[in-house]
Amino acid sequence: VSRLGPGAEFDLIRRLLDGASGHHPGVRVGPGDDAAIVIGENIAISTDMVVEDVHFRRSWLAPNEIGYHATAAALSDLAAMAARPIGVLASVAIGPGDETDFASDLMAGVIEAADAEAAILIGGDVTRSPGPLVLDIVVVGDARAPVLRSGAAAGDDVWVTGSLGAAAAAVTAWLQGREPPAAARAAFARPRPRTREALWLVERQLPTAMIDVSDGIAGDAAHLGAASGVRIVLQAAAVPVARESELALAVAGGQDYELCFTAAPGAVQRVAGEFSSRFGVPLTLVGSVEAGAGKAAGAVVVDATGEPMDLVAFQHWGRA
Ligand SMILES: [Mg+2]
Repeated sequence: VSRLGPGAEFDLIRRLLDGASGHHPGVRVGPGDDAAIVIGENIAISTDMVVEDVHFRRSWLAPNEIGYHATAAALSDLAAMAARPIGVLASVAIGPGDETDFASDLMAGVIEAADAEAAILIGGDVTRSPGPLVLDIVVVGDARAPVLRSGAAAGDDVWVTGSLGAAAAAVTAWLQGREPPAAARAAFARPRPRTREALWLVERQLPTAMIDVSDGIAGDAAHLGAASGVRIVLQAAAVPVARESELALAVAGGQDYELCFTAAPGAVQRVAGEFSSRFGVPLTLVGSVEAGAGKAAGAVVVDATGEPMDLVAFQHWGRA
């Protein structure tokens, strides 16, 4: 926040950020100096940028929801590494005609999403833009026991947290000029990164490889498969489809921010019930890992007879 310019709206933001700068054991120097200083051994860093009319439309979300959505999405990448969030840096370019309160409302959403995952705002920047709204979120976490994409082995089970497709159902509704069901809208506007769930699983040394489901489980499982040099086989009938969605959106939609992970065969079954009651979301066995180096590495969705299915009908909103 060192580069806020003069003016009433930036005074407002400065006040807001001052109010937000809580303490975190991983932060030695927070906002207000030229740079933040974080403490730790394995510091995980990730960045996620959203652009108006590419990732969202302004008519879909309130300003604080734009900030919340972007920050939760960025924090989801820390969850995917089983990293404990420490800090968030938010840089926003606000468009012409944005009223004075816009940036502060947006920042309030950023701070709320960070707070929900026990992270604090440690920096950021606000500037005017002649074009669309751009929001870039950098997240910093403590990854003392990181889970990479590359650890899946043939024979492993494939699991996913929560249910899939609700956010894509909301986007589909908006694009068709309908107002989405409330639950689908909330899934898009205020996703919940699976931070605690990831740490819980890692405490039990269960995941061998992990990724967050940001582009649809078929595509994200393919990243796991490619990184691990294996072939991930997802059973279509096992995919947990959100009530307000459908299989194609659950498999090839996006922005679910659930976790997809692999684990030794039979290892997770004994804790799945405990997981569900503790976190209020299901933990579902969706497939298995097969050997598959080279061109065979990746992922495939199969029907009940084992035939590969083509479920890429959905053009994901915001895919680069
Ligand atoms: Mg990710």
